Amino acid sequence: MCEHRRKVGDNYGLTCLDCGEVLEGYGYWGQTDTCRHVWMKSEGGYECLYCQEWLNEETRQMFHGGEQP
Ligand SMILES: [Zn+2]
Ligand SMILES: [Zn+2]
Repeated sequence: MCEHRRKVGDNYGLTCLDCGEVLEGYGYWGQTDTCRHVWMKSEGGYECLYCQEWLNEETRQMFHGGEQP
């Protein structure tokens, strides 16, 4: 993730105004096809804030090795 501070976001995602890097989700106004997931803990697992993809606790640990997302 870049170090810049000026960011613009909406319900599609979050983009850096300085370098254009997509920081979360699909980027501002849905710039990309792939989602940079932001996992929010919910009952029994995690749900992506932007694409609503679901990850259960077991799968999350497989990908993230038990660290906090
Ligand atoms: Zn940047
Ligand atoms: Zn996502």
